Amino acid sequence: MNHSAPPPLAARQAELPALRWDHGYGRLAPGFYTRLAPTPLPDPYLVAYSPAAAALIGLNPPDFDRPALVEALAGNLDWPGAEPLAAVYSGHQFGVYVPQLGDGRAILLGGAVGPDGRVWEFQLKGSGKTPYSRMGDGRAVLRSSIREFLCSEAMHALGIPTTRALAVIGSDYPVFRENVESAAVVTRMAPSFVRFGSFEFFYWQQRHDELRQLADYVIATFYPELREAPHPYLALLEEVARRTARLIAQWQAVGFCHGVMNTDNMSILGLTIDYGPFGFIDGFDAGHVCNHSDEQGRYAYHRQPQIAHWNLYCLGQALLPLTEDVEATQAALAVFKDEFAQALDERLHAKLGLATVQAGDDALIEQTIELLHANRADWTLFWRKLAQLRVDATDSAEDAPVRDLFADRAAFDAWAAAYRARLRREASVDAERAARMNRVNPKYVLRNYLAEIAIRKARGDDGPRDFGEVARLLAVLRRPYDEQPEFEPYAKLPPDWAAGLALSCSS
Ligand code: AMP
Ligand code: MG
Repeated sequence: MNHSAPPPLAARQAELPALRWDHGYGRLAPGFYTRLAPTPLPDPYLVAYSPAAAALIGLNPPDFDRPALVEALAGNLDWPGAEPLAAVYSGHQFGVYVPQLGDGRAILLGGAVGPDGRVWEFQLKGSGKTPYSRMGDGRAVLRSSIREFLCSEAMHALGIPTTRALAVIGSDYPVFRENVESAAVVTRMAPSFVRFGSFEFFYWQQRHDELRQLADYVIATFYPELREAPHPYLALLEEVARRTARLIAQWQAVGFCHGVMNTDNMSILGLTIDYGPFGFIDGFDAGHVCNHSDEQGRYAYHRQPQIAHWNLYCLGQALLPLTEDVEATQAALAVFKDEFAQALDERLHAKLGLATVQAGDDALIEQTIELLHANRADWTLFWRKLAQLRVDATDSAEDAPVRDLFADRAAFDAWAAAYRARLRREASVDAERAARMNRVNPKYVLRNYLAEIAIRKARGDDGPRDFGEVARLLAVLRRPYDEQPEFEPYAKLPPDWAAGLALSCSS
């Protein structure tokens, strides 16, 4: 028999690793999204991928050598079984309700089932215009895509709930921001991308049937235990408040500033989501604002907890047609404060290496934060180096690794005396305490300047394009708590030029 060659499209599709699909969000009614395909991106190339994220959906390193996979992740080749869509949502941006947002540049391909049976919805961010693009071009630049990619995987390695990132695909296609930059698509993965703003959209549109469908979907899929609660919608709100509280406590503990905590950037699963002008604090300033577009400092580091609580009120309001009880809603939201305070207190005890809780600890913790703030001491280095302190050191010179981070040495010495006295009260053993502290105080975080170096090399600012630094940085950040002597420079203070780095909403 005379077989003709398969059509080129089918042949390219056959090259794609087969995925098993289980479309969760895409099974909701049409009012929740618009079905559409990604817009192709010319001549895409692989910039980076995360082997750990790939494994979650059963992809292996050799798969990333296949041109068809790069084409699919660029949005140029339909993945058999995918059902691409853009989701609708709204939200409060900088405190103001904006009635229509949505996936303006992200396309959800659907849910991919991992080898362990877990379902990962996955999204191409930067893959063209959608009905929710408003004035935007539907694209993302390489710079912000690399930042989102690295930080997603770094946060996960730190043990902080987050959306994951599979890959960054680049293209020379020009994108116009303050300057002309090149386009990229970052593949994001999460059990769900539903946001507080997803609920707000149906609430403010008074589409209460769909509001209920969304809440039922979220409860059934992600919080099945709440179905047995006397009031499942209130239980959902309370559980989201608790998760969010614990998430923000983790952000505060590692010195992470999100930068744009609008309600459309708040995950219903309590994940860190929508990485934009985020930053890890270097020299500690409690009022640090990482987003230069945030002129009022609404999303400053020390305001993140209260902003999260405010955002939860927006969610609580959106759920009122389902909960039908203002007082009970307020009670469900009230759990935030205690949950946050307790979670942060636990983290700070652990960061200080304290194994017990004693009277006076609150004051010591407060003094620690004030000392760091007054000296603009490096947040990450302080905690990491503090582990080296010996309780019975006789000479302040022995404290040099951590002491040298402070301009006011006398203030440090006074604080260290109080800290040592506290350690003695629980008979703290140096080596044991150091081991515990090094498990909670990371040595390596994604400082802005590290991301910037990787971005400049990937863009080829000063020579040929080189993606090696993105991969190296990813590898370092995969093990943030380990000593990695070969990567010692990645744990250093930022160089002087880093002070001039400015991050805005433009991405
Ligand atoms: P963000 O502040 O990045 O979370 O985005 C807020 C809203 O603007 C979301 O609805 C995004 O999808 C949309 N958006 C941001 N950038 C673009 C863009 N370049 N093109 C289209 N929509 C965008
Ligand atoms: Mg967003």
